[in-house]
Amino acid sequence: MIYKWLKSAQYLIYPPTCLLCGGPGEHGRDLCAGCLRELPRNLSCCNVCALPLPGESGTSTTCGSCLRHHPGFDLCHAPFLYLPPVGRLIGDLKFNSGLTQARLLARLLGDFLETALENPPDLLIPVPLHPSRLRERGYNQSLELARPLSRQFGIPLKYNHCTRIRATPHQLSLKKQDRTRNVRGGFRVSGQLDARHVALIDDVVTTGATASELAKVVKKVGVERVDVWAVARTP
Ligand SMILES: [Zn+2]
Ligand SMILES: [Zn+2]
Repeated sequence: MIYKWLKSAQYLIYPPTCLLCGGPGEHGRDLCAGCLRELPRNLSCCNVCALPLPGESGTSTTCGSCLRHHPGFDLCHAPFLYLPPVGRLIGDLKFNSGLTQARLLARLLGDFLETALENPPDLLIPVPLHPSRLRERGYNQSLELARPLSRQFGIPLKYNHCTRIRATPHQLSLKKQDRTRNVRGGFRVSGQLDARHVALIDDVVTTGATASELAKVVKKVGVERVDVWAVARTP
C-alpha cells in the first residue's frame, strides 16, 4: 500500500521520460513506444545459454558450446542483445550511478519474464560484486535490477549470502578462455539459502562463465536448479 502510494508520488514528481530520446515515457516506463520497438531483441538464441544464433530458429536450438559442455546453470533468459542502445543503458547503469536505468531495465526484463517464465524460482540472488568494486561504485547494479523483480514476482531476494572472493578484471576486455580462468573459484556462499530453485540476476551475460561459476557454487549448498535472468547477451 505504502509502496504503491510512494510509486504514484514518484511519478507525479518525476513523470516517466524516455531515457533514449527524451520524449514522454509510456505505461510508466522511462521509454517511449518508438524507442521500445527499436530495441535489439534476442529472438533467436540457444535454449540453454541464450547465445544469439543466426537465422530465425527461435529458442529450440542448443548451441555447440552448451552441447559440448553444459554450463553450471540450467537456463538463461536474456531478452535483449548487448548492442546500442541497450549497451549504452547498461553502461550508464554501471558507471553513471544509473538508478533510473535500473528501473527501466528491470521493467523490460520483468515484462519479458511475465510471458516467458514457465517455472518461477523460489529465490533471487543478484550476482555479487567484489567488495572493492562495490566500494568504488557505491552500489551493485545487479541488486538494483533484482529489487523491482523481487517485488513484481513476489519472490524473495538474498544478497548477503554470496560473496565474490576475488577481484577480477572487467570480463568484456578478456578473451573467452581467459574469462573462464578469471572467474574460477571466484565466489563463496555462506549460510543456508533455503531454496530449491534459484535465479541469478545479472545485467549482461558475456560468455556465461561468471554465471556458470556462481551457479556451481550455489548448487554445492543444495540448490537443485539455477537459472540466470539477465537483461542482455553479447552476440
Ligand atoms: Zn524514445
Ligand atoms: Zn548455449
